[in-house]
Amino acid sequence: MAAALPAAYFTTHMSALHSLSKTLDNSPKMPVLFLGHGSPMNAIEENEFVKGFRTVSSQIEVPQAILCVSAHWETEGTKVTAMQNPPTIHYFGGFPKALYEVQYPAPGSPQLAQQTKEIVQSSEVHLDDKWGLDHGAWSVIRHMYPKADIPIVQLSLDYRKTPAQHYALAQELKKLREKGVLVVGSGNLVHNLCMVDWRRLNENFAFDWAQEASDKMNRFIREGNHQQLIDYAKQGRAFEMAIPTPDHYLPLLYALALQDKNENLSLFNDEPVAGSLTMTSVKIG
Ligand code: ZN
Repeated sequence: MAAALPAAYFTTHMSALHSLSKTLDNSPKMPVLFLGHGSPMNAIEENEFVKGFRTVSSQIEVPQAILCVSAHWETEGTKVTAMQNPPTIHYFGGFPKALYEVQYPAPGSPQLAQQTKEIVQSSEVHLDDKWGLDHGAWSVIRHMYPKADIPIVQLSLDYRKTPAQHYALAQELKKLREKGVLVVGSGNLVHNLCMVDWRRLNENFAFDWAQEASDKMNRFIREGNHQQLIDYAKQGRAFEMAIPTPDHYLPLLYALALQDKNENLSLFNDEPVAGSLTMTSVKIG
């Protein structure tokens, strides 16, 4: 009798793996996105940026699932949401009631969470049942897939990792592109909330340092010069001002790490807002 337990466990485990390979079919290589999400109000406003999100979704195959790396989920260790029905999280203050009422009831994908855990070898990825979808994910993805019918998981940012370690971990996710998974990094390249000009909140202008940082980032992105972007802390004062904390910048590295050599890349929503933010977004593939 004692020997029956491991055998039963093994059988269950193997059938789970079998159903996993059935769930995520092989696909042509999916594109990868970095989306500048900006103010949470973009979730419910109509503007040029949400049009940009819609346009990009119309240009790509409908994904089987989405894996989102959001600026708003930093953890000790790397986690992936593994619940069947992730709740919509509203962790921000001072916005109109209508924003707190937004629900984005996309299903989760325990299968994709498990597969993500399995393909990342360099770090342990922990299955999480406590988070959900934060506004880094839903404020942009609801414009792309308004029916909320694409399963989504979120992958957290481990705040103990160096930028090079984040980039290396992200490279291990490449296989997901051939399983119909759309990987979305969501943050902002220039993101300094302390410097926002609150009187000119809806104006598309950049302070000199923000423009300088943005121009340099865009050049590195277009040239495929990922090393300089990983080494953002060595790029001088404009970058220090643009990236006072790494949370909104690091999702870019997750997207770029998935770019194959000489793979097409384009920028969209490449506009500054309120002096110290940029909405610049990137489509790879
Ligand atoms: Zn944000």
